[in-house]
Amino acid sequence: MEYTPIIRFSDIVGQEKAKRILQQAILRSRLPHAYLFTGIPGVGKTSMAMALAAAINCKSRLDTEACGQCVHCRQLKGGNFPDFCIIRPEAGSLKIQQIRELQQMMRFAPLASGYRVTVLDQADAMTEEASNAFLKTLEEPPKNNLFILNAVEPANLLPTIVSRCQKVAFLPLRSDTIMRHLISKRQIPESLALVLARLAEGSLGRALAMEHSDFVDRRRLWVQKAMEIPRLSQAKILDLAQELSEEKSSARTATDKYEIGGLLDLLGILAMWYRDLLLLKGGGSEDLVMNADFVPELKKIAKNLTLLELYKSLLALDQAQKDIRMRRNPTLVMERTMLQLRELSSTRG
Ligand SMILES: [Zn+2]
Repeated sequence: MEYTPIIRFSDIVGQEKAKRILQQAILRSRLPHAYLFTGIPGVGKTSMAMALAAAINCKSRLDTEACGQCVHCRQLKGGNFPDFCIIRPEAGSLKIQQIRELQQMMRFAPLASGYRVTVLDQADAMTEEASNAFLKTLEEPPKNNLFILNAVEPANLLPTIVSRCQKVAFLPLRSDTIMRHLISKRQIPESLALVLARLAEGSLGRALAMEHSDFVDRRRLWVQKAMEIPRLSQAKILDLAQELSEEKSSARTATDKYEIGGLLDLLGILAMWYRDLLLLKGGGSEDLVMNADFVPELKKIAKNLTLLELYKSLLALDQAQKDIRMRRNPTLVMERTMLQLRELSSTRG
């Protein structure tokens, strides 16, 4: 996935507190040698690093915002600013060789005669050797260099590294914040934006990755299967459970941090379906339905089920999500769950 890089703080979605911390450091010219940005993937850590790099290298900065027009800003946007680089794990880890190359580069002053900004993405994937080597750099930080370490949480980093960084926490985004962004900035239809925002679990990056994958098609297919459950025989239900338990997440590319469309997403979609049924059954407003493109179908199905049956169905799905997270056998989990859902929805008659 390629997006136009963000180089202005005002273009970053949410994260007001993190922005304030960085902007104050810029205004007071009091940047540390290293920041540690913590938070789940897709909440703006890398964008914030770029905005910071732009602000401190821009030739005509206004307040704390990069101008977007000068040669440095244009290079940053084009991905060819010589003093900005992102180091990412290779085959699952950040290796000592990568840190050594970084250290070689540090022997030279920044090319554009401003600040060199180096981002260590998924810094918690540093091997022990790499961590120890990097610690040496942090102990004697080269002039005019700023390091930004991104990590989900500091616990997996060497405490001696953590203590030399200034920590900035990035919180998961609210789902309505994500939804508004998808609708207004990405022109995603409201009904789909709602579903993506709810499933993104606070990560805008994840919502966008879903939108760019075959997830949207898969979701329709899964919803259609959910509708069939009450009508299927026991044998057919077991076939369906088998088929669904093989749902694989989309292939991951080197820089793709998100697993989209796996079993947990499928269960999330099913849970959303039953939550909608429960809402309509309980007399809730149609406007609150998450599967807004299936309202007539939902209404029809809700008529045939009791509140208790719907509630128990949701509990079954909740348990299934927990079991999959605990790495229980997917086929067994899906068989049990599908049978429960069928039983709860076909007691009529
Ligand atoms: Zn500029």
